[in-house]
Amino acid sequence: MTLKIYNSLSGEKETFTPIHDNNVGMYVCGPTVYSNVHLGNVRTFMSFDFIYRSLVHLGYKVRYVRNITDAGHLTDDGDVDNDRFVKQSRLEKLEPMEIVQKYTVDFHKVLEVFNLLPPTIEPTATGHILEQIELTQKLIDKGFAYESNGSVYFDVLEYNKRGLNYGELSRRNIEELFANTRDLDGQNEKRNPQDFALWKAASPAHIMRWNSPWGEGFPGWHLECTAMSTKYLGDKFDIHGGGMDLKFPHHECEVAQGKACNGVSPVNYWIHANMLTMNGQRMSKSTGNYILPMELVSGNNDFFEKPFHPTIVRFNFMQAHYRSVLDISNEAMVASEKGFQRLMEAMKVLSNNNFPIAEVSSFDVKAWKEKCYAALTDDFNSPILIAHLFEAVNFIFKLKDGKETISENDLQELKTLMTDFVFDVLGLQNIEENNNEKLDQTLQVLIDLRNQARKSKNFDLSDQIRDRLLAEGIELKDGRDGTSYSIS
Ligand SMILES: [Zn+2]
Repeated sequence: MTLKIYNSLSGEKETFTPIHDNNVGMYVCGPTVYSNVHLGNVRTFMSFDFIYRSLVHLGYKVRYVRNITDAGHLTDDGDVDNDRFVKQSRLEKLEPMEIVQKYTVDFHKVLEVFNLLPPTIEPTATGHILEQIELTQKLIDKGFAYESNGSVYFDVLEYNKRGLNYGELSRRNIEELFANTRDLDGQNEKRNPQDFALWKAASPAHIMRWNSPWGEGFPGWHLECTAMSTKYLGDKFDIHGGGMDLKFPHHECEVAQGKACNGVSPVNYWIHANMLTMNGQRMSKSTGNYILPMELVSGNNDFFEKPFHPTIVRFNFMQAHYRSVLDISNEAMVASEKGFQRLMEAMKVLSNNNFPIAEVSSFDVKAWKEKCYAALTDDFNSPILIAHLFEAVNFIFKLKDGKETISENDLQELKTLMTDFVFDVLGLQNIEENNNEKLDQTLQVLIDLRNQARKSKNFDLSDQIRDRLLAEGIELKDGRDGTSYSIS
């Protein structure tokens, strides 16, 4: 079976051929850990989690590197003295490395909630300062970079003069770029406005700083990904991923650094994941159209009528192809929840029911399997895969009602494939049954305690139990047969 991947570099779906047999090297730009991970980021990382799971399922051995950006990321306005970590640390009155620790922990926790697998290597920018200094020196030695006031810049014009093609990934014309750039960062230091920083001199106020041949400073953001990807995956590797918004300038700069340093384009397949919108609009803190991942899960927000389990969110995200814009809304989430419940119900029927075994199946499992793999290997098409899974779901319910037949071999094959696709590849979790049972047990304990409180005339406590449950949307009803509950 051939795997096709849409390569942003060529703008086409290409047959995937790894450099080393069955081994795949994949690098994905990780988070900048100065604030809570937002829901759009979760979608991006989930897209690559699905791609990672798919590659593993298809039999590849994957080295999956995803970095942590914990230094050197300038603010949007390019204010050198005020990088995001320093800015946030002033705001929260914490050390910059406390900010890094706090939000790295948050990032890992959130991704675990949504059942993302950890990468096989998770390097940090601050752990690779030496490598970044070495790369900077190498670029100076080769004439692709120059020092200016203690900072070092990549010389974009020189790069182009040598026949290399700045703008090839984002398909931007360099003349246009020069015409449209306002120089905000290092005005008097750069030869050209498009030149980007490999190393920045630290001002006296800058806390995160390291020694270098050019004085104390900190590395440029683009350089860290080149340093870490090539260190762990080689000068040329198979897949580089990230959000669409990173294509320019971040990934364009990585291509330039790799080609200038090592003489080869660093990546064979560039994969870019599309963004997430909410209620048809871009998510943004400033407009208020914004929700944190855990607010969607807890229900503590103004946009959704109820909490949604992380696996429902995951199912919703998987229903869009990673290259399409995905819009979340209350209606879409409610529909996803229904779809997910039906899928889980079918999985239960499939594992519990003793179907009468027939000689011949009325469902062509072999053809269905081929369709599923065709979707998976067609640029990781999760929505088409899910549509095929629901063909099987419809069959399973009819089988249960005795309207279809299945042979022993086909039944075993269907069970294996459904389990693989639903849980291993899509990464969904069947937690609902468990959760309902646990919730019921917990509520029975609270009802017992409330009854004991009432018997001993501790009405303060019994009322408190009732009121606090009510505040959580759980109403206790005292009837002739004891106390029951309803959840709104
Ligand atoms: Zn990166």
